[in-house]
Amino acid sequence: MTVLRLLLGDQLNANHSWFGRADPGMLYVLMEVRQETGYVLHHAQKILAIFAAMRDFAKHLASAGHRVCYLSIDDPHNLQSIPANLDRLIARHRVTAFEYLAPDEWRLDRQLADYAEALAIPAAMRDSEHFLTGRDEAAGFFGSRRRWTMESFYRRMRARHGVLMTSAGAPVGGRWNFDAENRKAWHGSPAEPAECRAMHDHRDLWAQIVAAGVDSFGEPRAEHLRWPLNRAEAVAQLDVFVDRALPYFGDYQDAMSERASRLFHSLLSFALNVKMLSPREVIDRAEQAWRDEAAPLAAVEGFIRQILGWREYVRGVYWARMPGYASSNVFGHDRELPGWFWTGDTQMNCLRHAIGQSLEHAHAHHIQRLMLVGNFALLAGLDPQQVHRWYLGIYIDAFEWVEMPNTLGMSQFADGGLLATKPYVSSAAYIHRMSDYCGGCRYRHAERSGERACPFNALYWDFLARNRGVLAGNPRLAMPYRQLDRMPDTRRDALRKRAAEVLDRLDAL
Ligand code: FAD
Ligand code: SF4
Repeated sequence: MTVLRLLLGDQLNANHSWFGRADPGMLYVLMEVRQETGYVLHHAQKILAIFAAMRDFAKHLASAGHRVCYLSIDDPHNLQSIPANLDRLIARHRVTAFEYLAPDEWRLDRQLADYAEALAIPAAMRDSEHFLTGRDEAAGFFGSRRRWTMESFYRRMRARHGVLMTSAGAPVGGRWNFDAENRKAWHGSPAEPAECRAMHDHRDLWAQIVAAGVDSFGEPRAEHLRWPLNRAEAVAQLDVFVDRALPYFGDYQDAMSERASRLFHSLLSFALNVKMLSPREVIDRAEQAWRDEAAPLAAVEGFIRQILGWREYVRGVYWARMPGYASSNVFGHDRELPGWFWTGDTQMNCLRHAIGQSLEHAHAHHIQRLMLVGNFALLAGLDPQQVHRWYLGIYIDAFEWVEMPNTLGMSQFADGGLLATKPYVSSAAYIHRMSDYCGGCRYRHAERSGERACPFNALYWDFLARNRGVLAGNPRLAMPYRQLDRMPDTRRDALRKRAAEVLDRLDAL
């Protein structure tokens, strides 16, 4: 009897109950396939890091006595699609049953469910034992409510999992949320913690990937790949983050600087999303730091909210709303992405840095993704599906279940406000306040019209004016609409003219 157990590239959970005991009747299968490298154009580091981590994981399983079958991208027997490879392996190893772990992406969930249903042998999907909530839990919690506010979901998660709670069942510190204290700009001090992630040389693997004809974009950095490739490296990264960065995470969570691309962020999203780390252990480490008085409550609460709140919540939105969610486009936006999304070659200093850094490192932190790239895309009316594919390709941590609600919901408001209570848009004032980008920019952050005026300014007012029908009833936008209505006609005309100029020459900005 042989049971074939499939492991996908984002299912590298060494602590899964499947691996508790080696059993010669279980054949673990991992495969590098063109099906997965080609469904969207990926950043080179994303392909490289996932394949390298899969190879490391397969070695780890084999050395623990498990039977492992690994199909590399250049294996002559590799048929480059999951079902075709499974068919061949099931026949070759006389497999009597098929098992797989619950995929996190709708696309793979459908594919494997259809595949399992059509098989002549027994087949079953098992829990990935990673998340704190079931796929349907958010849907059950929100029911038919029109708005799904993350904060209410988060409070329930805190209480249910006993995170940052007193023994009497109240939030520690007397408040659920310390966000108001987490909005400082960064002026160079405290210093950004030194880079301490392990460095890998994967030039051979990169050569194999290229020779196999896999398309990609961005810098591979194959000689000095910085992403954690196994659980030990991920745990070490978590330790260093908690010691050196977590104490400042809250204060500078929203800050941006051309002098520091990581600031006090953890860069743990890749390790979490491929399941090298469990969300629970990351949350527990952060909470312990507060209990040990090694990090302030505002920082720890802010960090935990991202994982216990946002991460579980967006997953719930994804499973509740797919597949229809993928085509959300409440504003009917349809502009092409300007070419500089793929090169970083723009004169807007903030976007040059955020996109340049994304191409170089496959990472940008949350506010760069939301208030620079996403903000610009929404103000300029870029096609949200193209924007979604760009985000899904470029970031090391981009898997559709977490990327799509963040992009279409939080960032592009394409779902009409299921996820965000108002669109995350701003003029240059916010970017100037939270960053040091404006000083070195060709454009002038305080000007609204004229050739050197910052494009964000005119686009911001133009966005509000042209989407009045969808947005005017939103109480959180009452103030900007009042400001717009009180503007003298001459200023409104100048803004309209400048916005039209900007939209006409997006590629040349
Ligand atoms: P930190 O700032 O250190 O935060 C700690 C952890 O919290 C992260 O590792 C992540 O697991 C979690 N987290 C933080 N914010 C979110 C959020 N909004 N949703 C879900 N989890 C969150 N995150 C992804 O993991 N994959 C994506 O594809 C992705 N796409 C995004 C697209 C857009 C348009 C936006 C606005 C955000 C996106 N995010 C995504 C959320 C967030 O930006 C990243 O999780 C974060 O920048 C990763 O860097 P970090 O590990 O240093 O995070
Ligand atoms: Fe960005 Fe405008 Fe500031 Fe330039 S002036 S960095 S485009 S916000």
